Amino acid sequence: MTNIIDGKKISGEIKDEVKEQVAALKEKGVTVTLAVVLVGNDPASAVYVRNKKKSCEYCGIVSRSIDLPEETTEEALLDVVKQLNEDPAVNGILVQLPLPKHIDADRVLRAISPYKDVDGFHPQNVGALSIGIDGFRSCTPAGIIELLKRSGINAEGRECVIVGRSNIVGKPMGMLMLRENATVTIAHSRTKDLPAVARRADILITAVGKAKMFTRDYVKPGAVVIDCGMNRDENGKLCGDVDYEDVFPIAGAITPVPGGVGPMTVAMLMKNCVDAIALNQ
Ligand code: NDP
Repeated sequence: MTNIIDGKKISGEIKDEVKEQVAALKEKGVTVTLAVVLVGNDPASAVYVRNKKKSCEYCGIVSRSIDLPEETTEEALLDVVKQLNEDPAVNGILVQLPLPKHIDADRVLRAISPYKDVDGFHPQNVGALSIGIDGFRSCTPAGIIELLKRSGINAEGRECVIVGRSNIVGKPMGMLMLRENATVTIAHSRTKDLPAVARRADILITAVGKAKMFTRDYVKPGAVVIDCGMNRDENGKLCGDVDYEDVFPIAGAITPVPGGVGPMTVAMLMKNCVDAIALNQ
């Protein structure tokens, strides 16, 4: 029987834990504050930001909105980041991506203090993750580790194939699975015979961004299938990288889209905001 890994339920548990931690901190006079910077009018970004603020509200985290017009210059944005870095009332800083084309996103992300970088994108945090020391972990991969652990899936000694090598999902995912003692392969667009490579996986993690690309040809029967993709199908419906209907009957466990990895990303952002208190001390 295939197990459905319920990201909605597990993310709810994490947010409830965060809510308790935030309440305990409040009793000690500590307020957790996340600054959310949104530049321009990208409708998808507006939805993501709204969801993050709603989760902050649920957890008792103060969200401070900094909404800037599309034509904001890179220097002006860097100035905002600098002010937030220096503001002792702000524990976490999030600059919503993508930024308008005239702004160098890497430069902006590097300007965020690594101690307030709750997205885990700063090179210092990426480096910390690689060598296994304290730091913020990128939210989507960290959320996948929680999904696996809280579903009783042990990665130790198992073959894990990650498809996608982006800095925010694929690469940090590889580092985290190594820390779980999995045997890790990271595949990408130049990988030869991807279906054969993917079929080696006991745990297959897809982070490609191609609607329903992974049919059962890519999946070993009984494998755990974790789908990061957030795509639109031919009817405009939200779907993952995995062809869920095709793969479901042969998978051992699978994440749905929506309701799998997506809600975990926001939950881990909330967790990082609380962890920021300890990291800032
Ligand atoms: P990127 O576009 O940055 O990276 C995509 C990766 O997929 C690249 O490494 C690319 O390879 C690889 N790839 C593309 N086409 C193929 C192919 N045909 N075969 C094998 N590999 C391929 O995407 P992200 O990592 O940012 O995101 C991936 C997906 O996850 C997207 O759908 C995104 O929306 C979703 N996402 C979901 C989140 C969530 O909260 N659920 C958070 C972040 C992302 P190469 O490097 O060779 O070009």
